[in-house]
Amino acid sequence: MYDTIIIGSGPAGMTAALYAARSNLKVAVLEQGAPGGQMNNTSDIENYPGYEMISGPELSMKMHEPLEKFGVENLYGIVSAVEDHGEFKKVLTEDASYETKTVIVATGAKHRPLEVAGEETYNSRGVSYCAVCDGAFFRGQDLLVVGGGDSAVEEALFLTRFANKVTIVHRRDELRAQKVLQDRAFANDKVDFIWDSVVKEIKGNDVKVTSVDIENVKTGQVTNHEFGGVFIYVGLDPVSSMVEGLSITDEAGWIPTDEHMNTKAAGIFAVGDVRQKDLRQITTAVGDGATAAQSAYQYIVNNF
Ligand code: FAD
Ligand code: NAP
Repeated sequence: MYDTIIIGSGPAGMTAALYAARSNLKVAVLEQGAPGGQMNNTSDIENYPGYEMISGPELSMKMHEPLEKFGVENLYGIVSAVEDHGEFKKVLTEDASYETKTVIVATGAKHRPLEVAGEETYNSRGVSYCAVCDGAFFRGQDLLVVGGGDSAVEEALFLTRFANKVTIVHRRDELRAQKVLQDRAFANDKVDFIWDSVVKEIKGNDVKVTSVDIENVKTGQVTNHEFGGVFIYVGLDPVSSMVEGLSITDEAGWIPTDEHMNTKAAGIFAVGDVRQKDLRQITTAVGDGATAAQSAYQYIVNNF
């Protein structure tokens, strides 16, 4: 039996693994893809202390490297359910079942779809949710970025490396993004804005995106604009379906915790973006991970 199984190998999960292993716990991390989580889709990170600038994939590697040295077991699998049997928990994947004294849920969040006509039809044919992955395919083109938060503005700036012009369409007349990102976007000649407006339909020629219908929410006027690609950054949804059976989420699927990362279920902790919290960042994910590992250690000392 494991002392703790950590589900997810983003910054929260990797930090929890490091701290738990250094407390001499028997630790496994169950991950469905490459370690790093959302950091793998992030271009330049300049708000992680100690680095003036580092790419998301590079920071992922640096966080992952020491885990093996401290004896963390890396398991591959898509976790489908977590069962709480009181004294022990079961973590289930499609083809395996693992028993553990504690579970740390570090499954993060995923991009929210815009849910407009044409989005699904042209997904991966001009519609993208990842500038780092797809930006280079759009060299010299005019691109639309949807949203007004950190992701939209940061990734719009990244796309200016490839695009002829990047237009940000936002449903209000004020961005939500951090001031430093706003200032950069306003100062960048390649970035345009369409304010108070929403995407009505993404249109194409059956092969790829060619234009977008945009509605001004104040006037109701719909206009058609030519774009070769549409990058959607309208927020995040929690990844928590595997703990649905435990009744530890709120209505939207985020997991509330106390300051020790305890969920409503004893011995099950939640960390990082999947947690109900205000600031979803790498630094806060890392802090959550360290706290949860310490809480799991205390839980084991007190109960076993
Ligand atoms: P995640 O990074 O989401 O990792 C969760 C992991 O869990 C993933 O690897 C996933 O594969 C795994 N997982 C999920 N479900 C399962 C399952 N069922 N079975 C097995 N594994 C599973 N923050 C900053 O501080 N600075 C930035 O510059 C910055 N830029 C960003 C740019 C973009 C475009 C985006 C989208 C986010 C950015 N963020 C940034 C936010 C930051 O990336 C997140 O806050 C952080 O990655 C959250 O870490 P996490 O470990 O909680 O979750
Ligand atoms: P977010 O902060 O939730 O912003 C989502 C944006 O999309 C908002 O501007 C919102 O408009 C808009 N929006 C939501 N639904 C929409 C719809 N249906 N149609 C049109 N627009 C819609 O999400 P995010 O930008 O992806 O950021 C997620 C988290 O990651 C945040 O905590 C963020 O700080 C973090 N992050 C950090 C960095 C960094 O530190 N450099 C970079 C990227 C992300 P309103 O403003 O009107 O609500």
